[in-house]
This record gives sequence, structure tokens and C-alpha cells, in this order.
Amino acid sequence: MTKKNQEGITVKKNENFSEWFTQLIQECELADLRYNIKGFLVFQPWSVLSMEKMYKYLEEVLQKKGHKPYWFPTVIPESNFKKEASHVKGFTPEVFWVTHGGTKKLEEPLALRPTSETAFYQMFNLWIRSYNDLPFKTYQRGSVFRHETKATRPFLRSREFHWIETHCAHASEKDAFKQVEEDMQTTKEFMHDILGIPFMFFERPAWDKFPGAHRTFAADALNPDGKVIQQPSTHILSQTFSKAFDVKFRDKDGEEKYVWTTCYGPAISRIFASVIITHGDDKGLKFPWEIAPVQVMIVPISDDSQVTKKATALKDKIQKFASVEIDNSDKRPGEKFNHWEMKGIPIRIDLGLKDIKENKITIFRRDLNKKEVVPEKDAIKTIEKISKEFTKNLIKEADKVFKGRIKEAKNINELKIIIKEGTIVKCNFCSVEKDGTHCAEVIEKETGTEVRGTRLDEKSKPSGKCVICNKPAKHIVYVAKSY
Ligand SMILES: [Zn+2]
Repeated sequence: MTKKNQEGITVKKNENFSEWFTQLIQECELADLRYNIKGFLVFQPWSVLSMEKMYKYLEEVLQKKGHKPYWFPTVIPESNFKKEASHVKGFTPEVFWVTHGGTKKLEEPLALRPTSETAFYQMFNLWIRSYNDLPFKTYQRGSVFRHETKATRPFLRSREFHWIETHCAHASEKDAFKQVEEDMQTTKEFMHDILGIPFMFFERPAWDKFPGAHRTFAADALNPDGKVIQQPSTHILSQTFSKAFDVKFRDKDGEEKYVWTTCYGPAISRIFASVIITHGDDKGLKFPWEIAPVQVMIVPISDDSQVTKKATALKDKIQKFASVEIDNSDKRPGEKFNHWEMKGIPIRIDLGLKDIKENKITIFRRDLNKKEVVPEKDAIKTIEKISKEFTKNLIKEADKVFKGRIKEAKNINELKIIIKEGTIVKCNFCSVEKDGTHCAEVIEKETGTEVRGTRLDEKSKPSGKCVICNKPAKHIVYVAKSY
């Protein structure tokens, strides 16, 4: 990475996405990538302030839906970890182990949590007694550690990432499924309606489930390079973990039964990546109103005392409903404008002496990249109005782009052509159960893509033949390249 002389992003998002993303992170000071362990990064204020807002919103939603917050230890004893066979098999290659306390070897190695099922269920065993305790809905915010074997990318895939994990226990499979539906709804309310990220929720095929899960559901968002990125996933873990950890409850009929467990994992740092990728443009970031680190920036373009006075007066009024700052740095006005556009500030107020004399205010809005000059008396009203439209405009634009990037393929040749266009493919497929594994492997080998799964909200029914083997199709699946 070369250090440039001039501030700003020098490549176009749709021409060189990878370089654009790296420059965006560095130029906007979202993370410093120079920390001296591979795959770990230092998150800087401009991303942390925004991710704090994301946490706050999501935690409020979870609590409203009955989840209680917990703080569990970061370390998990090896013996816990080994209790559920497929879980241990799936995660072992990625676990960081703590083996020493000082110079002394520990009696039992401790895993730095890659995910916390085996920590929570140990305690569920002690806490859950009867059907009255169910559903038992928990969550924690924290970071998890995975020694990724795939290439790491800042925010998208790093070896420590910041997330929320929910762990719930239910009386029946039906209740567990209801929880999964609630998790999917939460994802929509959070990712789409607040953050403006279009995505599709899939049930993953049998060969692509979370280690230890009975059914896995996951949201996929799409990047400009045509690759999908997995966002929150929610899992019905069935009774495998409750059996491994002996989590039972006494039911209404007096019988002891194993609970059904579910877990849901929205990774805040990765969702943040989708926010900046979805809305960012060639100039830089574009934050949805609700999670902008600063929502309004006032830029005085003269140091006349009238301008200073007006800036302070405006700030006082605006801070009643939005976060606002005045840029008093000694950069030239043009530099300031470019800087805050790059940083993705939703609204900028350019305050000059001429405007003040004419009782006017110039407002720049980043959703439409447009300047509006309004009478001073209407300034506050206008800013409030923009704040309400802002995210809706981002959502409209993002949905339009996303919709244009899903296409149907009738055979493998069409599939190959569509994938080259950077598009998600919809096609007929024989089976998402074990018997479809072979066809999925053919797709992967010939096109470098993956069968991402079926949609629960799919309207159309499969008619015709599997895109690979020509057997009658049982499912409509979506195929894409992924990270
Ligand atoms: Zn097939």
C-alpha cells in the first residue's frame, strides 16, 4: 500500500472494488491495518462511533424481544468445547488456545471463544428447571477469535471480530423455529430498514450448515465484485447440544425433556463492512442517518465574527435533534468540503458571509450529493426533513442496484455467463439434502461458485430439471461466488 500525497480516494468503486475498499478504510480512518499480528486490526473512532450506534440499536431490539444480556468469560475450557462432536470438528482448526498462566502450563487448555455455545449451555444446565423458564432468551456482545484459514480482509474477515451472539432454549422444535423467524425479522429491521443493506435470507443446504446445527439460515449481502458476503445467521441446533450438556426441563406433563436450542450471530464489524460497501461511492463513505458518527457538520467559510456567531447559534438548535460539530480547522473551504464528503457526513452546512447577509443557508446533503439554498428561517425545518428522508433514499438506491443483480439460469452455460457479470444466479436444483452434494460440487468446480441455499419466502415453485443433472428439480436455489 502506497502512501499518497493527497487526501482522497483515487480509484473507482466499480472498476477496482478491492483497492477502493482498502483506500476507503485507510483514508477515512476506519481502521489502522498496521497492528503487528496478521488478521487483527485497530478500529478507529470513525468506525467505532458508528458501530456503537449499531450495537445500541440492535441491543434495544433484542431486549424488547425478550433477550436478557449476559457477559460470559472469553475463555472456554477444552472439556466444554469437546462435548459436542460435530461442533468441535468444525471449529477446532480455527481455535486459539491459551495453554500457560505465566510460565506454568495450565492443567487444562482454554479456548479463546470462537463462539460461545459451549460456554452458555454449561450454565443453562444449572439455570433451566421447568417449562416456566422457557423460552430462555440470552445474548451477549463481545468479540470472538478465529484463526481463519481463508485470506483475511479488514471488517469482512478478520481473526478477531465484534458481534452479538444470542443463545436461546425452547420447549419444542416449533418454538425453536419461531425463534428463527423472529431472528430473520430482526435482521430485516436492522440490516435493511435502518442500515439500508439489501440481502436475501437462505436456508443453507445440508452440506453447508453451522457445525452442530440441525438447520442453518443465513443472510447474504452482495458486493460490487459479484461476491456475496454472509451476514447474520441463525440456527436450530436441535437437541444435540442440550443432550451433550444435559440441559433438561420438566414439562407440563411432568416429564423431563431436553430443550431445543437456537443461536443467532450478527457480526457488527462485518455488517459495518456491508454498510460502507453498499452506500459508499467514488468520493467515499455515505452513512445512513441513524448510524453516522456525526450527522451534521457546519463549515464556516470565513472567520468573520458574524459567521462564528451564526455557526454557534445553528449548532445549539441542531443539537436538540442531531449530533453536530463545527469544523474550525484551518484547511481551505474546498478541502473541508471534500473531507466531509469522503467521511460520509449526511448533512453539511456551508456558512459564508454573503449567505448570512442575504439571510440564506446552504445545505449539502450526501444522500443525493446535492446543494440546497434555503431561507435562514427554514433551515432547521429543512434539516429535520432531510434527516427523515435520508436513509430512505439510500435504501431506495441500494434496493434498485441489488434487484438488478439476480438473474435466472436454465443450464450450466447460462450460469457461467451470468456469474461473469457479477450477478447472483437463480436456478432449478435437484436437492439441497445430502443427495444434491454431487451437483453442488460440479457447480463449484466448474464455476467457482457455491449453492447458497433456498429462500423461505420464495414465491415461485420449481418446475423443470436440475441445472446440472437433469433430474426433476425439487428446489429453486441461488448460486453465487462468496468470500
Ligand atoms: Zn442435480
